Amino acid sequence: MDQEYLIRKIEKYADEKGVPIMEKDGMKFLTEFIKLNKVKNILEIGSAIGYSAINMALASDDVTVTTIERDKDRYIQAVKNIKELKLDSRITLVLADALSFNTSEKFDLIFIDAAKSQYIKFFEKFKNNLNPKGYIVTDNINFHGLTNQDKSKMSRNLRQLITKLERYITFLNDNPEFKTRFFAVGDGVAISRRKKK
Ligand code: SAH
Ligand code: MG
Repeated sequence: MDQEYLIRKIEKYADEKGVPIMEKDGMKFLTEFIKLNKVKNILEIGSAIGYSAINMALASDDVTVTTIERDKDRYIQAVKNIKELKLDSRITLVLADALSFNTSEKFDLIFIDAAKSQYIKFFEKFKNNLNPKGYIVTDNINFHGLTNQDKSKMSRNLRQLITKLERYITFLNDNPEFKTRFFAVGDGVAISRRKKK
């Protein structure tokens, strides 16, 4: 079975089971970015069923991805998908909570796409695993267009989540170490890079 077909199959599965995989144009944007900047090794926080890890690995033959997922069922599905695409030699899946997973490895790109309420924690923890010229990419910055909107009609849970995301955006904008650019692609993507000293 060819790659295209297998990827469409994962998209269909995600759609049916309500797995929040990256939007297509956001995914395309990220894989182009990986090619353009010759990114080689990637750390992903939040694998879900492996969709974005697979797409990033397919950006170029020399890309390797380490990806962390805490949900066992999704992890198992990700293992299966990655095997089917024959990418198990280039994608390492870790079943763990990212906040208790430690590695001394350095990465060219860190992709944050797990619990939106924990974004600042992920950023602070994993910036230590970033190569000096590396990038931290964050997905779902706009959260379906809900950030920076009137929250009075939102449910309490949603309101809390959006407030946390807005706090993350402020954290990025005011960050003394990193410079961030925001892109209105997919569900909103941020790319952060260490400021030059
Ligand atoms: N990157 C994927 C989508 C990830 S959805 C793609 O685009 O294909 C977010 C995932 O993050 C969920 O599967 C959720 O279980 C996982 N997650 C949330 N918080 C986490 C944490 N602290 N550690 C590891 N995984 C986490
Ligand atoms: Mg996402």
